[in-house]
Amino acid sequence: MNPCHPRCPNAPEPVPVHECVKCGYGILAGDKFWDSPEGKICEECVDDMSAEEILKLCGESLTEAEKEER
Ligand SMILES: [Zn+2]
Repeated sequence: MNPCHPRCPNAPEPVPVHECVKCGYGILAGDKFWDSPEGKICEECVDDMSAEEILKLCGESLTEAEKEER
């Protein structure tokens, strides 16, 4: 194929711009990622995270509701 298909072994290796702190894969130019307080996290890992995990990374947490004494 000419130009090379991206999956063609002869295609040049894409150069990662950042490394995901969760999966360790390279984040390539044009990829989306989260510049979280713990480091750069690729879009796929962010998708896999629960809202609670994301809150935790931001230093927030869900509060357990307690019955208020009146
Ligand atoms: Zn990742």
